[in-house]
Amino acid sequence: MEFYSRRARDITPYKAGEQPKGCNFVKLNTNENPYPPSPRVAEAVSAFPCGRLRLYPSPEADDLRDAIARYEGVARENVFVSNGSDEALALAFAAFFDDERAACFADVTYSFYEVFAAMFGAKTQVVPLKEDFTLDIAAMRACPCAGYFIANPNAPTGIAVSAGEMEKFIASAPDRLFVLDEAYAEFSGETCVPLIKKYPNLAVIKTFSKSHSLAGIRCGYAVGAPALIEGLLRMKNSFNSYPVDAVCAAACAAALADGEYHEKTVRLVTKERERLRGELEKLGFFVPPSGANFLFAGRARLPAGEIYRRLKEEGVLVRHWDRPRISDFCRITVGTPHDDDILLEKLKKIFA
Ligand code: PMP
Repeated sequence: MEFYSRRARDITPYKAGEQPKGCNFVKLNTNENPYPPSPRVAEAVSAFPCGRLRLYPSPEADDLRDAIARYEGVARENVFVSNGSDEALALAFAAFFDDERAACFADVTYSFYEVFAAMFGAKTQVVPLKEDFTLDIAAMRACPCAGYFIANPNAPTGIAVSAGEMEKFIASAPDRLFVLDEAYAEFSGETCVPLIKKYPNLAVIKTFSKSHSLAGIRCGYAVGAPALIEGLLRMKNSFNSYPVDAVCAAACAAALADGEYHEKTVRLVTKERERLRGELEKLGFFVPPSGANFLFAGRARLPAGEIYRRLKEEGVLVRHWDRPRISDFCRITVGTPHDDDILLEKLKKIFA
């Protein structure tokens, strides 16, 4: 297009999973939580004084920042709140990487990283996962770079690196920045957040979209040493002063306040994940152990692309990428037991 900048012309945008209108699908394609958010969220939203919308929100979402700080056991200065965790990840590329400071990440990981790098002109180093899809920490350590983006658990594989192993990696490279994308960590039972007190080279990024069932509200956050948070604020305040609206901040604080509900729904999802994994294996899929709210299922009796298409015809949406190394897998979000039974029934029909 004649009016486009070179950047807009050249970039290949990230492609999000399908969000069909009038959803009659069993939707297992974008890792949304199958359960609604805590009832306290509905209460907070309906009690929100709409007259207050006349005013701009707190630029740094300070009340929510404090609520997150309490939840994570850190101080306000350790927290940065963003419009979805995607925004925190994007601003981390902008704040910490450029054409001389290369960002290193795996070949099979969250595909937004390469788009953010292109958007902000960051040099990249891509290190293949090992044959079994685990992180090749030795190869990453040997790679010349200014830092790492690591989704833990990884997407789309669901495979997690233990906090102990991650700490060894972080401690081994104090001159490099670690951006850990813990979008799915609540489903693994482990987080590296406590390590931020020990390692000034660590930022952990989390989201309200998955375990808190708030993908529709768009809120995420980063936790790290104050100097890293300052870096993110510098970028935010050069781009959008008020990325988190007042209703969103109230809703997310309400979700954090209901720890019991959060634990209960996380437990339901992880229990169902293990059942679904067993059932998929019985159908002949290879499914690596997952620490997330999805399973990476492949090497079945039919090509994964065909399984994806036939499931869609049958009203079940899963995710498939026609990309090297992963084209033989479908990523399947853990649904309710009822939705997953529909998936399993359709798979049996397709394989028959
Ligand atoms: N990280 C990973 C690994 C993800 O899969 C996603 C969801 N697409 C995100 C971050 C972003 O989630 P959100 O912007 O909804 O917080």
